[in-house]
Amino acid sequence: MSKNKMPSGLKEPQLTRNAEIVLKKRYLRKGPNGESIEDIKGLFWRVASSVAKEEQKYEASPYNWEELAKIFYEMITSFKFLPNSPTLMNAGTKLGQLAACFVLPVEDSMEAIFDALKYAALIHKSGGGTGFSFSRLRPKNSRVGSTGGVASGPVSFMKIFNTATEQVKQGGTRRGANMGILRVDHPDILDFIKAKERDGELNNFNLSVALTEDFIQAVEKDEEYELVSPHRKEVKGKLKAREVFSLLVQKAWESGDPGIIFLDRINRDNPTPKQGEIESTNPCGEQPLLPYEACNLGSINLAKFYDPKKQDINWQELKTTIHLAVRFLDNVIDASKYPLPQITEKVHLNRKIGLGVMGWADLLFQLKVPYNSQQALKLAEQVMSFIQTESKAASKCLAQERGPFPAYKESIYYEKKLGPYRNATTTTIAPTGTLSIIAACSSGIEPLFALSFVRNVMDGETLVEVNPYFESVLKQKGLYSPKLMEEVAKKGSIQKLDFIPEEIKRVFVTAMDIEPEYHLKMQAAFQKYTDNAVSKTVNLPNSATQEDIWNIYWLAYELGCKGVTVYRDGCKNAQVLCTGKAD
Ligand code: UDP
Repeated sequence: MSKNKMPSGLKEPQLTRNAEIVLKKRYLRKGPNGESIEDIKGLFWRVASSVAKEEQKYEASPYNWEELAKIFYEMITSFKFLPNSPTLMNAGTKLGQLAACFVLPVEDSMEAIFDALKYAALIHKSGGGTGFSFSRLRPKNSRVGSTGGVASGPVSFMKIFNTATEQVKQGGTRRGANMGILRVDHPDILDFIKAKERDGELNNFNLSVALTEDFIQAVEKDEEYELVSPHRKEVKGKLKAREVFSLLVQKAWESGDPGIIFLDRINRDNPTPKQGEIESTNPCGEQPLLPYEACNLGSINLAKFYDPKKQDINWQELKTTIHLAVRFLDNVIDASKYPLPQITEKVHLNRKIGLGVMGWADLLFQLKVPYNSQQALKLAEQVMSFIQTESKAASKCLAQERGPFPAYKESIYYEKKLGPYRNATTTTIAPTGTLSIIAACSSGIEPLFALSFVRNVMDGETLVEVNPYFESVLKQKGLYSPKLMEEVAKKGSIQKLDFIPEEIKRVFVTAMDIEPEYHLKMQAAFQKYTDNAVSKTVNLPNSATQEDIWNIYWLAYELGCKGVTVYRDGCKNAQVLCTGKAD
């Protein structure tokens, strides 16, 4: 339990039933017999106080840490801001691992591969997700010098990582998640693209193909491109770029995997290129990192910043929250205990943090702006550029108070004379899969999947949810009834329900009502003002064609996204979110 005594008079957090279930099941600290040894208020105080306590290290801090702890507690329990799950679970505990995202290098030797496997197990155990590029492994059937045998290749090794992940299961609190990346010019690329074609194969992995500018140009010009063996830098053959791209599209159409990342674009935004190339992201794609780097994320719940009197965003309050959140996340870096010394070193060198948003669709509902409108895209840019600017300002203030991140002088900020920052990056848009349940808001920048739906949580348990803004609008118009909710849950969308007025239909659009182009344009609007990347799934109806996916992947490139993931409804057996087609 936290050693920081809880002051009297702290507000009791107002939780939905779903939030309470999730927190009790997965987040409260447990004793040796599985019994909870803290309550929900205790959990939030443990997090707020242990993170605020880091403030004591910095003489120039304008805060008394105990006062700051109360301010953090208020910010978290009002659900204006939440740190990523590992921080909620582990802050102030013996384990103390607070970051969600890690990237590990996989070098081309048996020893290094199995080191990476072990490191991944340690990270999963602590609640983090791991990303790997397997691009440095020699292709299958290459000769192995020491034994005279042949190499098994990246895909075969990934299966071992997958099995190990299955076994670790992170003490029942969080599933191990992995990102597997392969460069498009790796000789095993076709095997990689097909690696998940059989159901259940590599189920603990998301896959992304790392596309290079050369490859994209070859697709454009309908040319061949070269496959290069990484260990000898030998050209091993050529493939027609369009054929590879179309296989990629076909597999994504069948199962959602693989997605793509634009590797050169990611590296153009690498704030510390002198430390080497970025070759992978974390599992959900929002956080490109250098090998051995980790990042802790936090999300501002935009739904809480609607001012009903002004019928506008409360910008002043948003600004205050951004500055506090940056301070919070910078403290988390120091408060966290990392599973490996190499990671501690790298994290302290660059001090990356990832502040993002959730509750975007809820904010749009309150503002009565349809997600699929020019107005929403404009607003997205306005909100995210505000967060980017203010988070940078906050990081600059912290640099004055605490010093810049140690690698500052070898960063682009120094070269471009942008001034010292405390953090090499400040913004990332995470999926907020669990945080959004705790804060009872829409997840990340995603539209609602359905206005009323069944959510599958761990172990086959289900939760039913009705969007509160939708409910309240219907109640105002005298249209609300439990029967209607059933109907909506079955359909997911209200667009074909005659008795709902047009003005409500226009605003309350769900993922499947929104044209894929708008999904992407929204992602691009947020990406424009985000240092790292944006987690977003382009949801497609079951009837979407492979050509649709081709166009989406292409448009993602043209719009400046760093990667893209599509999901065609009904293409896999187990979806994390599903419409409640209960009939
Ligand atoms: N993550 C993980 N296991 C999970 C869910 C998430 O390792 O079961 C990691 C992964 O790196 C992901 C990141 O946490 O990209 C952020 O995911 P999300 O925002 O959904 O997490 P939350 O903080 O809401 O639990």
